[in-house]
Amino acid sequence: MLKVHDLAVHFKQKSSFALWQKSSPLRAVDGVSLEIHENETLGLVGESGCGKSTLARAIARLLTPTRGTIHFEGKDISTCPEHALGEVRAQIQMVFQDPSSSLNPRMTIEQIIAEPMVIARWNKKKIAARTAELLDLVGLNHTHLQRYPHEFSGGQKQRIVITRALALHPKLVVCDEPVSALDVSVQAQIINLLKDIQERLGVSYLFVAHDLGVVRQISQRVMVMYLGEIVESALKSDLYALPLHPYSQALLSAIPRPKPGLVRQRIILRGELPSASNPPSGCRFHQRCPSARAECAEQKPLLREVAEGHHVACHFVQ
Ligand code: SF4
Repeated sequence: MLKVHDLAVHFKQKSSFALWQKSSPLRAVDGVSLEIHENETLGLVGESGCGKSTLARAIARLLTPTRGTIHFEGKDISTCPEHALGEVRAQIQMVFQDPSSSLNPRMTIEQIIAEPMVIARWNKKKIAARTAELLDLVGLNHTHLQRYPHEFSGGQKQRIVITRALALHPKLVVCDEPVSALDVSVQAQIINLLKDIQERLGVSYLFVAHDLGVVRQISQRVMVMYLGEIVESALKSDLYALPLHPYSQALLSAIPRPKPGLVRQRIILRGELPSASNPPSGCRFHQRCPSARAECAEQKPLLREVAEGHHVACHFVQ
């Protein structure tokens, strides 16, 4: 359904020294390829600043890519001008991290849910019928419609955001850290809701999170991103059973074990994420990698298939 090839999003930066000096662009996303199939959830993980939210926004065409293509249902949407993006925006919806800032505090819940349908010029009867259908789907009460966002908890607000995202029957919902701002118990409710919606409607998700434990609960496939690039991609079962890239191994080692007594050795990475405007040469992870060798600083590893459906960007993974 969605095919992204060699996607890059670079941001121009002003030089901090002199006006006439050019500084190198911030390479937030740098050559990412991925596919999302119908009725599938692709998890995208990586630490803050790795470019995953920028990638998500570029796929939803809230940002214009610097390079590469995005094919959605066979049509290249990467070069679509702003005025022609209406149909794309209906088909690819976004759910953001903070539900409070996604909802206009001056609008009632009914107005918020109806807004995309009003913009799409649906008539009142059709909007009312779709609103009732959506409320049942997400477990919101019809009495909630005349209330305002501040009257709801964080979990309920995220339900409202999800309801609005589903209004125009999208095929893909891009969820950018949708549960990171919520309590753990509420996180589970929202993830179960998203899974339930997928079962009933067949919608696909790109699920972005920094927490591998959260991504595990909902994804069928998982991609690990580091400094603008994908370093590992595999079926969830393969990645969690045997992560092959040293960065994925470090991320996974940070997930608490559910069974007491089972100890996993924590891998602590050295230093911070390097700057995306001046990424390290060779393997971008070499300054922090516990397995790095001399050649890692010179030669860039390619993302290659090491087992069926399992791709890794590391020179030493066979
Ligand atoms: Fe580590 Fe070298 Fe592999 Fe990069 S290529 S992940 S630095 S071992």
